[in-house]
Amino acid sequence: MKYILVTGGVISGVGKGVLASSVGTILKSSGVRVTSIKIDPYINIDAGTFSPYEHGEVFVLNDGGEVDLDLGNYERFLDVTLHRDNNITTGKIYQHVINKERRGDYLGKTVQVVPHITDAIQEWVERVAKVPVDGDKKMPEVCIIELGGTIGDIEGMPFVEAFRQFQFRVGRENFCCVHVSLVPQPRTTGEQKTKPTQASVRELRGLGLSPDLIVCRSTSPLANESREKVSLFCHVAPAQVICIHDVSSIYRVPLLLEQQGVPDFFINRLHLQAPRVQSQRLLLRWKELADRYDRLLKEVTIVLVGKYTKLEDSYASVVKALKHAALAASHRLDLKYIEAAHLEPAMQHDDAQCYHQAWRELVGANGIIVPGGFGSRGTGGMIMAANWARKKKIPYLGVCLGLQCAVIEFSRNVIGWEDADSTEFNAKTSNPVVFEMPEHNPGQMGGTMRLGQRKTIFTSQDCLLRKLYHNKDSVDERHRHRYEVNPKVVEELEKNGMKFVGRSEDGERMEIMELQDHPYFVGVQYHPEYISRPMKPSPPYLGLLLASCGRLQSFANRGFRLSPKMSYCEDEDELSDEELTNITSQMNNDTSNSSSS
Ligand code: GLN
Repeated sequence: MKYILVTGGVISGVGKGVLASSVGTILKSSGVRVTSIKIDPYINIDAGTFSPYEHGEVFVLNDGGEVDLDLGNYERFLDVTLHRDNNITTGKIYQHVINKERRGDYLGKTVQVVPHITDAIQEWVERVAKVPVDGDKKMPEVCIIELGGTIGDIEGMPFVEAFRQFQFRVGRENFCCVHVSLVPQPRTTGEQKTKPTQASVRELRGLGLSPDLIVCRSTSPLANESREKVSLFCHVAPAQVICIHDVSSIYRVPLLLEQQGVPDFFINRLHLQAPRVQSQRLLLRWKELADRYDRLLKEVTIVLVGKYTKLEDSYASVVKALKHAALAASHRLDLKYIEAAHLEPAMQHDDAQCYHQAWRELVGANGIIVPGGFGSRGTGGMIMAANWARKKKIPYLGVCLGLQCAVIEFSRNVIGWEDADSTEFNAKTSNPVVFEMPEHNPGQMGGTMRLGQRKTIFTSQDCLLRKLYHNKDSVDERHRHRYEVNPKVVEELEKNGMKFVGRSEDGERMEIMELQDHPYFVGVQYHPEYISRPMKPSPPYLGLLLASCGRLQSFANRGFRLSPKMSYCEDEDELSDEELTNITSQMNNDTSNSSSS
């Protein structure tokens, strides 16, 4: 097993996550099996109890693990399925060590950070790195470990020390260290400044880790003199200084690494087997995606009506899934966030400007998405958005809470149950059309939801979603909820045109809703965004985007199939061999140009 540790310097949020997943992508496209571990040095056991405002979205894994959103990046980039243990937190490590101490495993010794915590970290990493993530049950060859935060943080110290020891435990040819740092370019001088990078590399070395690659994040490409300075002052060869400047899309990052010879660097440094044949094909796909993304002309406007709209990361996977689907629908995504509470009538008196602005955006949208959320704030606005979409026949996708709001709206305004509600928002409603699932365990917040991958069986042969899912009989998607559509009201809802076309295996849980006589009004109890991939857009999201740009019907005429270029496009044919050769030679040119310059 080979390990690549990715650390960050100068500031957090420097792009370690994208860099680490891109390193994985280029290795994977060289034919190497890759897995990853994300370390979050906070005390929480997992991300489950975080407010989305704290750390952005909580990402959910197949096994129900509620983890840091960076694991989503790994899954999307590497197209792998990770497990809850791939996310290590200080809390998990301490819990593990304390449990051992209580069992008496330390035989009366004083339990200390060094060696007990640091040993536990190393053992955890070694154990988890071996777990297959590809679906083919083969052991990974390379494990990329991203250490959250920045070098020098107090919380990160035990982890840095653990890896200082680890490099000797596994041997030099099995461990290397990538340091991602910021090279700012203050407007006053316009010059790239390498001092912060120098300082953070010095700090890293002081802690006993030497960077094998220094990745400089900058707004524009790194000037030669900056590269030389970093090389000189940080004691590495110029070829070990890599630049990732701001680019048009994250799809370009693996290509930038490839152009700077990073795959070869790792292959030599870690004595990896030479790249295998199919290698380039995957990177070609990335190049194709990046190029198509840059060439998109037409725009589609989607509004996201949610309650955590102040922090973009709160909806990270939803936004990514929308982007994947928009790219497949060959449209540039114009995404607008509406704070749901701003749509509510009370807002008209409190802040008329916000209210009118919110409504202007809602009525101007080609499509509406109401994503997941907890608590009652803003749900009035979400219900109004569902009402608008239903009545005006605007494409609508309700995810989890968004499905529940659509059901409440329909019950109130179509069936006429005026106080229809979810018991989450109004415990006393006489029409609990959405209610707590029986297994919900009140009193404790962490890990008490219906979480992770569950099966949904299609109950109708002839529904849109089934076709979007390539006519499968069932789908496996990830869940995270406590409430559900009340099975007692389903018959009445269905009689009025709201169909539940997908249900849990026991038939008790309503998973997929489709409204009749509407171009696209869909609700799903699960979160399809978690398994959307750039090259495999999530079907419910794809449906929303195609409907929003008026292409759903022609997609249906094509038999609901994307072209091999992963796009919906009437005139596009498959990538011919000739085209493939052209792209390959173009790529080789790009690579040789950049390495010679
Ligand atoms: N609050 C709702 C529930 O617990 C919706 C959850 C969600 O949207 N993830 O069921």
